[in-house]
Amino acid sequence: MPFKHIFQLALIAGILPTAILAQPGPAAPAPPANLPPYNARALFAPNFLDQPGPTTRTAGGAPGATYWQNAADYQLTASLDEKKARVAATAVITYTNNSPDALPFVWLQVDQNLYRPDSRGAAITPVGGFRFGNGARGFGGGDSLQTVSIELHGKKLTANYRVSDTRMQIMLPEALRPGGDKLKITIAYAFNIPEYGSDRLGRLKTKNGEIFEVGQWYPRMAVYDDVEGWNTLPYLSAEFYLDYGNYDYTLDVPANYLVGGSGELLNPAEVLTATEQQRLAKAAASDQTVVVRAPGEVTQTGSRPAGRGGRLRWHFRCQQARDVAWAASASFVWDAARMNLPSGRKALAQSLYPVESAQDTAWNRSTEYVKRSIEYNSKQWYEYTYPVATNVAGAVGGMEYPGIVFCGDKARKGQLWGVTDHEFGHNWFPMIVGSNERKYPWMDEGFNTFINILSSQNFNNGEYKEQGDVAGRLVPGITRGLLDPNQDVPYTIPDVTQPRNLGYAAYGKTGYGLYLLRQEILGPERFDFAFRTYIKRWAFKHPTPRDFFRTMNNAGGEDLTWFWKQWFFENYLLDQAVTTVTYVNQDPTKGALISIENKGQAAFPVTAEVKEANGKTSTVRLPVEIWQRGGTWTFRVDTTSPLSTVVLDPTKILPDVNRGNNTWRAVSMSN
Ligand SMILES: [Zn+2]
Repeated sequence: MPFKHIFQLALIAGILPTAILAQPGPAAPAPPANLPPYNARALFAPNFLDQPGPTTRTAGGAPGATYWQNAADYQLTASLDEKKARVAATAVITYTNNSPDALPFVWLQVDQNLYRPDSRGAAITPVGGFRFGNGARGFGGGDSLQTVSIELHGKKLTANYRVSDTRMQIMLPEALRPGGDKLKITIAYAFNIPEYGSDRLGRLKTKNGEIFEVGQWYPRMAVYDDVEGWNTLPYLSAEFYLDYGNYDYTLDVPANYLVGGSGELLNPAEVLTATEQQRLAKAAASDQTVVVRAPGEVTQTGSRPAGRGGRLRWHFRCQQARDVAWAASASFVWDAARMNLPSGRKALAQSLYPVESAQDTAWNRSTEYVKRSIEYNSKQWYEYTYPVATNVAGAVGGMEYPGIVFCGDKARKGQLWGVTDHEFGHNWFPMIVGSNERKYPWMDEGFNTFINILSSQNFNNGEYKEQGDVAGRLVPGITRGLLDPNQDVPYTIPDVTQPRNLGYAAYGKTGYGLYLLRQEILGPERFDFAFRTYIKRWAFKHPTPRDFFRTMNNAGGEDLTWFWKQWFFENYLLDQAVTTVTYVNQDPTKGALISIENKGQAAFPVTAEVKEANGKTSTVRLPVEIWQRGGTWTFRVDTTSPLSTVVLDPTKILPDVNRGNNTWRAVSMSN
């Protein structure tokens, strides 16, 4: 999910977080006249990770010797009624209980029920409307369940189940046994596709046909984990927490439609023309984007196979995924290119968009953006695992699924780069690293915002480098946010975070925080090793916040408790100040003594740029430990002449709420 709606700036499609934060906002509120006092004992308190790690997770933040997680494999057979905008489907779920616990019941998520007029999500939708509400508008949504049956211990039965809002509980005739027991659930169901589905799915009318973007489209197993047992928070608007498994699914659509879906297409010979197959093969060997179906071909009947009874069945497979989504339309232009991954493996980047979006300043470059974003993150963090990556233009402004993302059809230039890079960045968080988005959105949105900064700085010799401009754009936005007394902290569940604060708390502050950790605290080498360790340890698993904190402390080799506390659990303000400059024995040739103060509750390492009257400039870096015994410090600099200026945080990278006291200037002696 991108920032733009989060900040209610809905008119600009697909803009990157950093850019949003840099929108000329209201002037920053002045810092309070008396900041809450700095307290070293509170900031460096020893009790943050003082409980032993559970045996399922190590004290060092890795999955433990007894770590387990359950698995859910899905076989989905769906048909799209394009005239009624309705999906009818059968889901066959094979659920494996790897836990050490007997499970007398299981929980599923029936997310389409958000769109029932009587849903909790509708009830919490403000009268004036809200991006996540649809039920309130009287749309006839929700999962219509036709049959629900189970197969357990060799017996097939009609399921005893109960639906409560977006959750469904199946009571089992006998418990699912620990240690690998399997339950098969078969559900026949149907639902109407909302026109605007909480900015996660929807429909867009274009001149050559409607674009259907379909997510949350099948009953999904809730996660049973070692932390909370069943995770049954309802779907109100926050994103998802899902187990991993393998998917095999078919989509029956009109023959003139093109379909993009998570994973790989298994039957190209059935659903593509010979020309499309040839061009696709060319694209799979090309670093330049190859057009598979040109804008001028969209309305040509010969550009698609005739199908059977005017219909075709697209067959996809997606391995080791926590979800699948798809999009279908007669209106799609299609292009693709090869992606080169670090192991030597190749994958395919592709884009589906209507002719209205087919401009060189817009979606004609989408595939290039997908390719560069994924190649960069694969090299920098962890190799992309799916064979295909698809970007779809449509009504959804920006939403991520494994191997496929939905971005706004109106996005162009840097906005399209930003939203594409962001949504595909989600393939790392939470698609590879499967954290709990419904409780901890900062672990996917924030970590993703961080990798987007580096990716944008890297893209095409800085073509959109302003989107990765931290000091110029992110720092002012976050500093403004810090000064807002009604602000939320990252460690807040999203349903509780004020909607206007979500962009700050989950995205910007977290992304900026990791950037500070990398640039100002650990340094890129130590940070990158620790962050890669976190990704590798928890790839396709379920880390908690403390697994992240513990891994960064352990692999980075630094007790960062003070940072986790001030940044993720509090909105402590930072105010570094230079107070006085004196000279050793009042003699500038013997060295200067610079006194500084930490006036807010937060602490950071100090960077001071020191200039002498003779022109000599030096940079002094002091570790955060100078603030462990209190809020004042004096350090010595070797000098040969009087100082002319001392500037703290000269690159303006820290969230200092009062820069007025960051600079000391010598009083002119000439008159
Ligand atoms: Zn997002």
